Amino acid sequence: MCGIVGYAGYRNAATTLVSGLEKLEYRGYDSAGVAVYINNAIVVKKTKGRIEKLKEILKTVSIEGTIGIAHTRWATHGAPSDKNSHPHTSNDGKISLVHNGIIENYKQIRDELIKKGYQFDSETDTEVVVHLIRDYYNGNILNAVFDAVSRLKGAYSLAIICADEPDRLIAVRKDSPLILGIGKNENFIASDIPAILEYTRNVYILNDGE
Ligand code: GLU
Repeated sequence: MCGIVGYAGYRNAATTLVSGLEKLEYRGYDSAGVAVYINNAIVVKKTKGRIEKLKEILKTVSIEGTIGIAHTRWATHGAPSDKNSHPHTSNDGKISLVHNGIIENYKQIRDELIKKGYQFDSETDTEVVVHLIRDYYNGNILNAVFDAVSRLKGAYSLAIICADEPDRLIAVRKDSPLILGIGKNENFIASDIPAILEYTRNVYILNDGE
């Protein structure tokens, strides 16, 4: 289990994401992190420990973007640590994602990507997904996600952002929960409804494979 939140709209994304995470802390608290798009780049802040620790870090920086993703982890592969915390980001910093679940065939994909020159920063199963998406990326993040998930075995809900397509927030799920919250001039992704109830009651529950 873990908590995922995604936001695209007009509010301060980091603040909105953290407030959503706090409603999901029952789902995991090994680490917490956010990734927000600002000025053609993705800024990532993450730490081992509870959301309170992430909030302390966020007090020391100003992150003004309005689209981003966030995560509280329940570690399955790799110890609770700063490096194993989500979001995970591609080597060139273009793509960032959070994941709930287990990628069963991650070892095989990891070996393949290492041969291609991708560098791994963490011990997680999750990190293969971001490098795989980057490998397929050819200017359309949605297509790259379709290609990457067709290779995955296991359970996943994923929220993804891409610095080259900052108006898109991608959500996909298989055997792990994920919902969308539809607001006015803003939309949300979350593992569970309480994360977004403060903002909208218009909820769409993603089907498996959607
Ligand atoms: N398997 C991933 C990890 O260990 C995701 C765990 C989770 O769902 O929080 O980082």
